[in-house]
Amino acid sequence: MKKTHSLFLLAALFLAACNAPKTADEAAETAPSPADTVLLKDFSPVVVDNLPVTYVERAKFDIIDMHSHDYVESAEDIAKWCKTMDQVGVLNTAVMHCSWIGRPFEEVVELYAPYKDRFRFWCCFDYSDMSEAGIQKACETLARYHEMGAVGVGELGDKGEGDLYARPVEGKDIHIDDPRIKPLIAKCAELKMPISIHIAEPYWMYLPMDATNDGLVNAVTWHVDTTNCLGYNQLVQTFENAVRENPNTIFIACHYLNMNHDLPRLGALLDKYPNMYIDIAARVAESAHTPRATREFLIKYQDRILFGTDNGMEPDMYRNILRVLETNDEHFYIPEYGYHWALSAFNLPDEVLKKLYHDNAARILNEYR
Ligand SMILES: [Zn+2]
Repeated sequence: MKKTHSLFLLAALFLAACNAPKTADEAAETAPSPADTVLLKDFSPVVVDNLPVTYVERAKFDIIDMHSHDYVESAEDIAKWCKTMDQVGVLNTAVMHCSWIGRPFEEVVELYAPYKDRFRFWCCFDYSDMSEAGIQKACETLARYHEMGAVGVGELGDKGEGDLYARPVEGKDIHIDDPRIKPLIAKCAELKMPISIHIAEPYWMYLPMDATNDGLVNAVTWHVDTTNCLGYNQLVQTFENAVRENPNTIFIACHYLNMNHDLPRLGALLDKYPNMYIDIAARVAESAHTPRATREFLIKYQDRILFGTDNGMEPDMYRNILRVLETNDEHFYIPEYGYHWALSAFNLPDEVLKKLYHDNAARILNEYR
C-alpha cells in the first residue's frame, strides 16, 4: 500500500469514529445544563418542605384599610366588595380618588352613598391654577370636599416628575415640598386631613438591570428611568422637607416609603418626625423576604404603621396579606407579587396587629370605637 493511501485510510477511520452514535453517558455530558438554560423569568419553584400552610379566612381583629381605590364599575360591585370586606374582616376602606383615573370626586361620593359607613373618601389637590389666588381657590375646593366627606388627601404620587396622580390636572414638576402648595398643606392640618403620598419606587427598580440586581425579575419590567427627573434620594428628600416644614400636618408615606431595603433609615425618619406615618400597602413581597427585620421594625414602630391593600377587591388578595402579618408560615411563594424569592410571615403579637389594623388609623382619622 502506498503511503498516501494509508494516510487517507487513517483520516477516513478518524472521521467515522467522530460521527459514530454517542452512548447515553456521552450524550448527557454534552447536553446543555438546566443551569445554563432555565431563565430567571421562568423560575417557578414548588416548595417541598413539610411546613405549616395556614389559611387565614378572616383577620384576627377588625381592619381599617387605609389604602385602596375606586375599583368598582357599579353599585352592585360595591355591594359585592362590602361582602368580601365582611368575610375578611375589613370594617371600612379608604377610597383614594386621587390616584384613580375615573369619575370626579362628587360622583364617587354619590355612587358610594348607600354604603358610606364602609368607605372613607380621599381627595386630590387641585393644581389647575398655581397662582396665589389659584391655590387659595384650591384650598376652598379642599374644604368643600372635606364637607362632602373627604377624610384625607391622597394618594398623591411622585415618582420623580411631580404629583402624577392628581385630577383634573397632574402636578407636573410639583413636588411635595414646593412652596407654592404650602397653603394647601397647612389647610390639611386645619381640617385634620392626613396626606397620603407615594414617593419613588422600590430601590431595586433604580439599580442596573444586570445579574447583581436582587429584585431583577420584577425590576426589569418596573424599572425607573431617572434621566429627566428626580432620583430616589432626591425624592425622599422632598418628602422629608415637607414633613419637617409642616409639623402640624400628618403625612402617610405609602408602601413603607418604598424603603423596605433600608429599615434603619426609615426608622430614623419616624424617630425624627412624629407627624409621619407609613402604610404597608402593596409591599408584601418587598417586606416578607426579610421577615425578621421587618417584624422587629413593625413591633418597634407599632404606633406609626397603617394597614393598606392597594390591590383590588378579591378575597385572596386580603388573605395573602393576613397570612403574612398573622401566621408563622415560612418559605412560601406568592407568584403574583412578581419576585423570585420566597416569603416568610411575621407572626405579629396581637397588640401590634390591633394597632396596625385599626387603632392607629382610627386615631389619625379621629374615629374611635
Ligand atoms: Zn395606591
